[in-house]
Formats: sequence, C-alpha cells, structure tokens
Amino acid sequence: GDFPIDIDTLVIGAGPGGYVAAIRAAQLGQKVTIVDKGTLGGVCLNVGCIPSKALISAAHRYEHALHSEEMGIKAENVTVDFDKVQEWKGSVVNKLTSGVEGLLKGNKVDIVTGEAYFVDSSTVRIMDENSAQTYNFKNCIIATGSRPIELPSFKWSERVISSTGALNLKEIPKKMIVIGGGYIGVELGTAYANFGTEVVILEGTKDILSAGFEKQLTSVVKRRLKKKGNVEIHTEAFAQGVETTENGVTVTAEIKGETKTFDADYVLVTVGRKPNTDELGLEQVGIEMTERGLVKIDKQCRTNISNIYAIGDIVDGPALAHKASYEGKIAAEVISGHAAEIDYLAIPAVVFSDPELASVGYNEAEAKEAGMDVIGSKFPFGANGRALSLNDADGFIKLVTRKEDGLVVGAQVVGPNASDVIAELGLAIEAGMTAEDIAMTIHAHPTLGEVTMEAAEVAIGAPIHIV
Ligand code: FAD
Repeated sequence: GDFPIDIDTLVIGAGPGGYVAAIRAAQLGQKVTIVDKGTLGGVCLNVGCIPSKALISAAHRYEHALHSEEMGIKAENVTVDFDKVQEWKGSVVNKLTSGVEGLLKGNKVDIVTGEAYFVDSSTVRIMDENSAQTYNFKNCIIATGSRPIELPSFKWSERVISSTGALNLKEIPKKMIVIGGGYIGVELGTAYANFGTEVVILEGTKDILSAGFEKQLTSVVKRRLKKKGNVEIHTEAFAQGVETTENGVTVTAEIKGETKTFDADYVLVTVGRKPNTDELGLEQVGIEMTERGLVKIDKQCRTNISNIYAIGDIVDGPALAHKASYEGKIAAEVISGHAAEIDYLAIPAVVFSDPELASVGYNEAEAKEAGMDVIGSKFPFGANGRALSLNDADGFIKLVTRKEDGLVVGAQVVGPNASDVIAELGLAIEAGMTAEDIAMTIHAHPTLGEVTMEAAEVAIGAPIHIV
C-alpha cells in the first residue's frame, strides 16, 4: 500500500463542468485538487464544442468563397488545404486547453493526471500508467462527462467513426454517411457538406433535429441543406449494418420499410452519448443512479452521499457545456457554505447548423403543456436591413410571452448568428422582462438584434416593419 494523501476538495474530470467548479471552489477559499485521465478541457475543448465550431467556420469560409456570385464576388481556384485546416483547428484547441491549465495554476489548484476510482465515500485511488495513489478527500465533485454510444452493429473502426473520428479526419471524404440527425450529426454533416463531401443523413425518427426544436424552425435548416445539392436526408431510416470494403463502407438501412444500401468513405455514428459513470466504482459508495446511468442529485448538485456532488453530462438535463459549468459553480458554492441552488429557468440550446438554431425557455407547445396561456410572435430576418446586407436573411425570431402580463417565457431563433442573438433573450427571461421591456429597449441600427425588438413589438401588437 501507499501512504494516502489528505486533500480537501477533489474534482474528478476537467471538462467545462469540472474545471469551472475547481476554479470557483478555489476562489471561495477551498484547497482544490483536480484529476483528469485525459487532457484538460474535457470533451468540450478537445473533441467537442471547440474543434467542431472551428471546422464549421473553416467550411463556411470555403463555401462563402465559392458561392458569393450573388454579391458580385467571383473567386477562382479556391482550394482547401485540409492539413492546414486541421493544424489551425489544433492551435485553437491548444490555446484554450493551455489557458485552462494557466487558470487552474493561477488559482492554486493542484492538477493530477490519472484515472480516479472510488474506494469509499472519502477515498479514491488515482491510477496512471505506472503508479497508483490513494487520496482521502473531504468533499468531491464528480464531473466525468460522457462518451459516444457505440451501436453493436457499428463497432468503431477506421471507417466507422464517432464525432471524435470525424473531427480528426486526415482528408475531406468524397462521401460520408451520418447515422443520427441530432445536433452533432447535423453540425458535422453540414461542415463536411460545405467542404464538398456528399453527405447522406439517416435519421430514425420522423425528422432531423426534432429534439427540442419546432418544425417551423428545423424546416428552414432542412431547406438550406437540400439547396446545397450534396446532402440527402432520409427519415424513418434504420441503419442495420455495415460492411467494410477496401477503402470504404457499405451501410445497409431500412427506410420506410424498404432495404437500401449506401457506399461511402466513412460512416459517422452520432446516435447519442452515454454517461461515464460505469467505471468509477460508484457502486462501492452506494451512490444512487437513474435507470439511464445518470447520477441522482438534489437542487444543490449533491448526491445521496452528503459530501459527494455530481455535475454536467453525468446528471439529468441537456448535455451542454454551459449547463455543466453552471452546475460546477453551484456545487463549488454549496461546498463553500453558500446557499446556492440550481435554477434551470433559461438554459440556451444552440445548433451550429446552417443557418443556426437557438432556443431558450419554453416553446409554445411546452408553455401550453405547463398550463400557461401564451402567444407566439414572430419576426422574419427577411425584413431586417442587417440580415439582408449580410446576404443571410432566411429565418425568424419567435417570442413566447404570457398573455396575462406579457412576461417573456421563451424564445426560438433560426437564422444568422442565432447563437449570439439568443443571449439577449436568455437575459430577458432571467430578469423577468416583458415583451414591452424589450420593445422599448433601443437597439442599434442596423443589427440582427432589431429582429428581437420587432418580435417583441409584434407581441404587443405594434410592429413597425411588418403589416
Ligand atoms: P466532459 O467535457 O466530458 O469532461 C469529462 C472529463 O472527465 C474528461 O476530460 C475525462 O477525461 C475525465 N474523466 C472521465 N472519467 C474519469 C476518471 N475516472 N478519472 C479521471 N478523469 C476522468 N456543448 C455545448 O454546449 N455546445 C456545443 O457547441 C457543443 N458541441 C459539441 C460537439 C461535439 C462533437 C460533442 C461530442 C459535444 C458537444 N457539446 C457541446 C457537448 C459538451 O461537449 C458536453 O456537454 C460537455 O463537455 C460536458 O462537460 P462535462 O464537464 O460534464 O464533461
């Protein structure tokens, strides 16, 4: 045996949940140790949010260079050096992960590399390649995140790839099959389509992006995908198996009852993610779990074991980086004796599709289900000067307001920069604002934000730029 090391607050996992929790706990005077078996920054910085957005924006640059004739721009011999794209993407990731390291060190957080395994409710073993060390902790925050689900008939290989594989391809594929039309499949599929790959999306349900977004929003994205000319979408399509050929794959799928085969260079499987809670020794501690393998927590992110907390993708709710970070701050504050509590009133969700989708709070149907009497008010980007001058005017903003008093309870955006436009609406909900408050806020002209103001004017019955 080794000599155990006594520590105060242990954070397991250094993704956007864990590293934020560690920093906030240190700011509040805790002595913090963070452990990760991989690279600081977790999925989000290394193989998730950041590298995917880098690829998406590089692909957009290329696509714009090719297709700006309408604006009088004609470019010839536009080429992609994909090695260089990957190198640039890597440099963005490195900048951010080394930034996280600097922040942790700057806050005097001890960083340990290795895999943590629970022994009991105050002890973990941390193993790396050639050693193991026991730590006794006072409080622990588990933030071990999630991994892609592997389908039994689609075992990972060089040609059957997860999002991680798709982010790290060495060349632009000629053809790619995407199983699963959720946000990760659509984002990566669109990026490669913009680079010129022929993309086939196979979605099991009746529609792509159906989780959380109304049809009137997703249909704008679908229209744009179809317009590209190199994207095929099949719904009610069940991928059944794959055969690896010499330099590609053949995928068999049953589509609306008919069996079809598709050849491609790669098949990307994005059918969901699984919480990393199965190899942690949680059963040794008696931590309560849900049927789906998520850790049960209370409003303070505390598990049924009073000194152990859990945050991020391993607990209930949307698997998003900003939700993980938010919970990290709450857990750190609770451990430090603050009366903090989670409040999920307004978690924005964004799809970096083409155009982008974003939503916060309730949509109309959800509000009605929750017993609210609401009105949905829409304003199109097509009537906005900024959107038109960007040559990017598909889509709209929809506000959901309570009939009795005009309180903003939700908003959905499809259109240019939806990911940024949604921020103002999240703030409006958090601050308890009404449609009139937004309508009477002076928005700079010409900006996309004016669409938010005009949707609020529609809600109160007085829009200027629409009849
Ligand atoms: P993670 O980021 O998964 O980090 C967990 C960490 O724990 C990892 O570093 C892992 O090495 C470590 N770990 C696991 N087990 C152990 C152990 N036993 N011992 C030690 N260390 C361990 N979200 C968004 O909000 N916006 C986006 O645009 C977005 N895009 C995405 C794109 C892709 C392709 C993917 C895959 C995900 C994307 N996400 C996005 C989701 C986002 O990445 C996750 O929600 C987020 O990373 C979850 O954070 P986390 O802290 O819970 O865990």
